[in-house]
Amino acid sequence: MSQHPISKGSIRLERDLCIGAGMCESVGARAFHVDDEGLVAFSDDLANADGPLDNDLGRAVVEAAAVCPAQAILLADGLDDA
Ligand code: SF4
Repeated sequence: MSQHPISKGSIRLERDLCIGAGMCESVGARAFHVDDEGLVAFSDDLANADGPLDNDLGRAVVEAAAVCPAQAILLADGLDDA
């Protein structure tokens, strides 16, 4: 599997789209959780990450983005930073 490392800066949370379903937390609790407002937020491990994420944390990010029913977790490949 060839996958370039993910950095925290390449992740964007669209909290306006989040419906608080919690799927991201179920598959990637190290990366995301549902906060007091009922919306997705970075978990401590991701919030404190510096530089490329370790494999486990990177996998948590990718899997959480994949299962989110609202596409509220965007990764660099899906970002349009024109
Ligand atoms: S899975 Fe998506 S919609 Fe559900 S809480 Fe996480 S970011 Fe929000």
